Amino acid sequence: MFGLERYRPIVDDWEAFRAALFRPQPATIRANALKTTPEALRRALEALGFALTPAPFDPALFTIDAPPIPPGKTVLHWLGHFYVQEAAAALPVLALAPEPEERVLDLAAAPGGKTTQIAERMGDRGLVVGNDPDGARLQSLLANVYRLGTTAVAVTRQDGRRLSGGRPFDRVLVDAPCTAEGNVRRRAGARRTRSPGEHRRLAALQTALLERGVALARDGGVVVYSTCTFAPEENEAVVDAVVRKAGGAVRIEPLPEGLPGVPGLEAWEGARYVPEMVLTRRIYPHHLDSGGMYIARLRRLAPPPWADRLPPSPGARGAGLERPDPALVRALLDGFRDRFGLPPTALEGLTFFVRGGDVWATRLADVPDGPELVAAGIRLFRLQPGEGKMPSPGPLRNAKPTSFALLHFAQEARANVADVDAEALLALLEGRRIAPPAAAALERGFVALRFRGTVIGLGHLDADGLRSGLPRGRAEDLRAALLEERALHEAP
Ligand code: SAM
Repeated sequence: MFGLERYRPIVDDWEAFRAALFRPQPATIRANALKTTPEALRRALEALGFALTPAPFDPALFTIDAPPIPPGKTVLHWLGHFYVQEAAAALPVLALAPEPEERVLDLAAAPGGKTTQIAERMGDRGLVVGNDPDGARLQSLLANVYRLGTTAVAVTRQDGRRLSGGRPFDRVLVDAPCTAEGNVRRRAGARRTRSPGEHRRLAALQTALLERGVALARDGGVVVYSTCTFAPEENEAVVDAVVRKAGGAVRIEPLPEGLPGVPGLEAWEGARYVPEMVLTRRIYPHHLDSGGMYIARLRRLAPPPWADRLPPSPGARGAGLERPDPALVRALLDGFRDRFGLPPTALEGLTFFVRGGDVWATRLADVPDGPELVAAGIRLFRLQPGEGKMPSPGPLRNAKPTSFALLHFAQEARANVADVDAEALLALLEGRRIAPPAAAALERGFVALRFRGTVIGLGHLDADGLRSGLPRGRAEDLRAALLEERALHEAP
């Protein structure tokens, strides 16, 4: 097997480490504080037959032993009540300890487990920039931001080594690409032996990313470096190189109290690291019955020698985010509230942007626009100039609300709400039209679909009946979750 054999001298309990690698890894989930509480989530999942054990270091995290169905295939997951995140992967954000109203950068963010965790811990208040250069992985990041309903996240697509400067960040997470040896339990590929060249090549990228992270932080700001690999070349050696090169501008700090793991290495294969390296943390699979992780928490004390190499921020024009005409925003909001009988407070406190034919809403007052910007907040409307494809009376005539607008901002809907049961919902999700629920007073046009008391997205009513307006991928996922849950209920 066992490229990992070289770690025998440094792992605290080799037999436990080995045994953990060959055991299946239990699932862990993180309750989304923006949608639920850990207690409510636990009750709801236990009602489905899941057994949840809270993590000792974070009440929002639960281990699930022997899940009756994959937790990611439940309706609650689809609704954004939790994120499937392994226990060790939750630790870097606990080390970062972001606060509401701060400016936080996640330099290597996709698929967004930590970006969304940061936004949750900030109560969705402040700015979280989630950056990644990989277009396909960015789609997963966006899907997670939308599903979990975080409005404080701006997503950028850029090589993190070149991410442009602007107002400095209070905190920066550099969750670097790595050889992922800590994922061996999940991915057999991670079990193959890594060559010294591979570690070296990644270490060069990791060092450049960490340097950039430090350059983008403010003086006094916190930078957390993390990987999911055991290789000291990608962990302590990277932190050591950056701290030494910073010449006093960066200091290693202890992690917050109560986090698991063992101290970072003082030396490896002849190299000696700065003595403070013991303040960094190694988490091995047997510590939390999870994957592996390495975490270093740094504080920027002064500009590092490389800070003056930052290209300036491209300024406000960048990607073409436009502030829409206030009259358009008013018409959209009035139309949305009227249509669904929402109180005047619905959608309050959001800032709107137009890009392409779409209207986005974010809590960010200060969106860091630039050519790399992909999204800010959540897409709420699609403008359909001229003849609307889904005409609806009133000011919404030429704009279509997204299903995420309904899911995240229309739970108090009192008008044009169609309550559907599982049978009706399955039919809608399969693309069929159904007769509208008899009891509901529905006008033709946009309708809020509600299932088990929760508004789940957009429907549309016309002379031929009611049909789903959920995007295809989301509809397929919800259908799969409903069928899984149904099979669970019917199981003997
Ligand atoms: N933080 C993510 C999470 O919690 O979901 C996981 C990040 S993963 C360990 C590392 C990420 O680094 C990958 O998504 C990869 O696309 C990204 N990456 C690779 N090269 C990069 C670069 N030059 N700049 C920024 N990110 C990069």
